[in-house]
Amino acid sequence: MRRRPARAFPSGGVDVASAAMRPVAPDIWQIDGFPAHGVNAYLVGDVLIDAGTRFWTKKLLRALAGRRVSLIALTHVHPDHQGAAAALCAALNCPLACGEADRSVMEGREPMRPGTRLLRLSAAVLSGPPHPVARPLRDGERVGDLRVVGAPGHTPGHVAFFRESDRLAIVGDALLGMSLLTTRRGLHEPLKVFTHDPAENRRSIRRIAGLQPETLLFGHGPPLRDRAALDAFVAALPAEAPRR
Ligand SMILES: [Zn+2]
Repeated sequence: MRRRPARAFPSGGVDVASAAMRPVAPDIWQIDGFPAHGVNAYLVGDVLIDAGTRFWTKKLLRALAGRRVSLIALTHVHPDHQGAAAALCAALNCPLACGEADRSVMEGREPMRPGTRLLRLSAAVLSGPPHPVARPLRDGERVGDLRVVGAPGHTPGHVAFFRESDRLAIVGDALLGMSLLTTRRGLHEPLKVFTHDPAENRRSIRRIAGLQPETLLFGHGPPLRDRAALDAFVAALPAEAPRR
């Protein structure tokens, strides 16, 4: 019987180039979709951050073939980040992590937030099945070389990840690196229709900027290595409405 080369994977006719791993920083690879940088996942050492939509399972397995994955950690539980998580955990035999306050959603005990019609529609089309969260993430914990940074707002349990050694932040959807409407590059707040609490998300953006990251890796958009652009963006954010 012929042996299959280690890296081969049933392609199902899917474009192999789309499974490419793009090195973006030491020990970090970006896996993106179409359009380029439109939806991103990252392999950081042996931790996969985010898992695309449910249509990403084959693509991610191909990209990860031959690599060790010890944990899948989600920045937040939305259809374009948790989609292939359950299938990958099963295929790679590894546990799942996400922010503590998103756990009940990932486990299927609560609906995704916000409860807007558009999010419900995207969830129906793009999200993957529920899966137990073995590791609920709390602010300040470590995941490999990364520190968990609580960044709630887009979802209640949204987290970012920060690597001190090169001041690199993986920000999920707290901050977007491209417009989801036009795909134009540049910093944006996430769309309100997909955001649980925009005011809280804005506080999280300020918190991320306070880490003074040199590199930002987004859920949507190309890597950004321009701290001045981040500082200018944050300075231009509207002042917070007074709390009542
Ligand atoms: Zn997203």
